[in-house]
Amino acid sequence: MVIAPERIAVAGPSITEREVELVAEATRHGWYSRHYEYNRRFEEMMAGYIGVAHAIAVPHATSALHLILASLGVGPGDEVIVPDVTWIASVAPITYVGAEPVLVDILPDTWCLDPAAVAAAIGPRTKAILAVDLYGSMCDWPALQQLADRHGLHLIEDAAEALGSRLNGKAAGSLGIAAAFSFHGSKTVVTGEGGMLVTNDTGLYQRALVLCDHGRPVGDTSFLNHEIAFKYRMNGITAALGVAQMERVEELVAHKRRILGWYRERLAGHNAITLNAEPEGVINSAWMSTVVIDPALKFDKFHLIGELSRRNIDTRPFFSPLSSLPAFADRAAARRFVTDRDKGVAIARYGINLPSAQNMTEDKADIVSRALMEVLATANN
Ligand SMILES: *Cc1c(COP(=O)(O)O)cnc(C)c1O
Repeated sequence: MVIAPERIAVAGPSITEREVELVAEATRHGWYSRHYEYNRRFEEMMAGYIGVAHAIAVPHATSALHLILASLGVGPGDEVIVPDVTWIASVAPITYVGAEPVLVDILPDTWCLDPAAVAAAIGPRTKAILAVDLYGSMCDWPALQQLADRHGLHLIEDAAEALGSRLNGKAAGSLGIAAAFSFHGSKTVVTGEGGMLVTNDTGLYQRALVLCDHGRPVGDTSFLNHEIAFKYRMNGITAALGVAQMERVEELVAHKRRILGWYRERLAGHNAITLNAEPEGVINSAWMSTVVIDPALKFDKFHLIGELSRRNIDTRPFFSPLSSLPAFADRAAARRFVTDRDKGVAIARYGINLPSAQNMTEDKADIVSRALMEVLATANN
């Protein structure tokens, strides 16, 4: 049996002396007139990297999505179309503003929203489409934009997993009216917990600035709040960590792509294995190298995860369909358009994320690949 000599982690960052240095500097000096200096630097670097006009550093991607929805005025009585297969953080903020998520199927190849399923779910209450660039894949943004334009809907991008991905030269995060990024410790650029709202829409940006600071007009020093809102600012020390990581963003994304390349070389020839899609025109930043095992083998993901764990390798399950979770049991309205149960379920039931941490080496990818093929060889026994 293939056994990794040391446990291989599924996700994790790369931290150098530069990160430590900037955090120490912010801790010493990021106060008084320099309060929010690191936030501004982090925001400028992100906006520049994505190629958008505005960015706001926030506590997490969850709060960025909440702010986007609130800034657009999405609220009670509205519906927002979202993929059935994503992390729950894509969807929970829709409920925070009192709107109803409407779950629809994903495509079997890119694992992103199926535009035909979106079209079928649009109704009189639909206010927005919230699309997710899953595991670094790119959605069919032109098709989604066409639907949004035809029906007068907001198109929102959850790019939490797609920093560094591109579609026809456009960066993930620049494709909807606004996008959310995450800097959770498992993501490609980390600040521990953290997120960013990015947008080209100046009106949305200005509204979000007010809503993220307890309803104070920008620059207010009188403490006379105009409305009750939220407190969603990133702290400056966290932002300093983000600045140091963004100095290295090209290197961090390149390593993610290198890891996917190592797996591709070793696994792409295996006819039961499908890896992250990278169709013409797409650069997939491969936040998580992910495999989907041919459903015909009926190789349940949790069984696979257990077998790899015995071999000292950590993996994660492909996100399970939200419509199948206890959290959505009493949300029949949210589940009403999930028609093609087999499509989403098949991918989600037979997929796992392979180790994709920044400390991955080619040797480790080799061990993981051999272990995976060893486990799959037992499929028909
Ligand atoms: C990680 C993630 C989020 C949430 O990020 P937080 O910073 O933890 O709030 C949202 N959507 C997707 C698709 C994610 O993977």
